[in-house]
Amino acid sequence: MNCNQDPPYKHGLRSDSLFLEHLRAVLKQSALLEYPELGRLNTWKLGGTALALLNAECEEDICSTIQNCVRNGVPWRVIGKGSNLLMPAFWPGVLIRLGRNFRRLEMVDQDFSATFGAGMADATAAQKLSQKGWSGLEFLIGIPGTIGGAVCMNAGAHGSETSDFLKSVDWLDEKGDWRRSNRDELNFAYRSSPFNSSEKSVVLMARFTLLSKNPEKVRQKMAKFHAFRIERQPQKQPNCGSVFRNPPNGNAAKLIEASGLKGKSFGGMQISEKHSNFMVNLGGATSDDAVKLIEFVREKVWIDHKVELRTEVHTLA
Ligand SMILES: Cc1cc2nc3c(=O)[nH]c(=O)nc-3n(C[C@H](O)[C@H](O)[C@H](O)COP(=O)(O)OP(=O)(O)OC[C@H]3O[C@@H](n4cnc5c(N)ncnc54)[C@H](O)[C@@H]3O)c2cc1C
Repeated sequence: MNCNQDPPYKHGLRSDSLFLEHLRAVLKQSALLEYPELGRLNTWKLGGTALALLNAECEEDICSTIQNCVRNGVPWRVIGKGSNLLMPAFWPGVLIRLGRNFRRLEMVDQDFSATFGAGMADATAAQKLSQKGWSGLEFLIGIPGTIGGAVCMNAGAHGSETSDFLKSVDWLDEKGDWRRSNRDELNFAYRSSPFNSSEKSVVLMARFTLLSKNPEKVRQKMAKFHAFRIERQPQKQPNCGSVFRNPPNGNAAKLIEASGLKGKSFGGMQISEKHSNFMVNLGGATSDDAVKLIEFVREKVWIDHKVELRTEVHTLA
């Protein structure tokens, strides 16, 4: 990984502006922001700028953006709240963020099914379910991402994961074609889904079938999860949750701690004093500080324990 390279300006300033002008002209409802500040688009508050950010309000605009990007050799990537993304100093592509029209919710009482727009915040989704006493996704209360990000990452906590109660997903493939897949057609595993493979796709909507329980019990479970996080995880310093996946039958935080790395820092990025698998931005950290610290931890854990840590955090590349 190298996040500190000079802006590549692969397409040259002139052709970039023509590309953006053309893209803006075909958009129906969505706004295109040029050179957005990446630090505002991720919870680590890292990174410089990207070529553009599409605040998408309809599928048609996402499709035209994907098709224009592909035709012009411009990279594209959908993002949620950037709570699991390491952003670089410059990214020469178009980021797609799902806007208000992708935050809808439909709940059907007869079969306890809930369909969430992929742009809805996880915590909002958990709260809406708890109001009805629908159980299964309580763990989402502590995950600061979106439903799309949760499906893509197969986010999980407290012994549950997003795919457990998933029924189907509506998504766009790498050509911008609409697809609907049932849960049993999709291969989910620990922090992994078909949507986070190298093939690009956009999750638009996810349907879940939940269990009906007493609303008070559901609320109590969420409160317990919330208290657990306050006690164990850094709350005030910018971070992206667990940096590394737990290795099979192991625990990344325990290995890092056993290597004596708690509190270790590079530039403005530090291994949290509270949770060894979290890295916190002390203020002014760069993407390169994060990359260096990640590489350092991987090397030290390998030397000490012969365990190869794999990152859970995704890199914009
Ligand atoms: C304080 C804190 C606590 C956390 N705790 C947990 C935890 O307990 N469990 C856990 O699993 N994670 C946890 N995380 C990590 C993170 O919140 C989750 O991985 C979350 O699901 C990411 O969602 P996001 O919307 O922010 O996605 P982003 O970080 O924006 O993106 C992550 C990946 O998903 C892709 N993506 C995003 N939206 C879509 C979409 N609509 N369609 C297709 N791909 C998409 C992106 O391209 C990227 O590859 C935590 C993070 C923080 C900061």
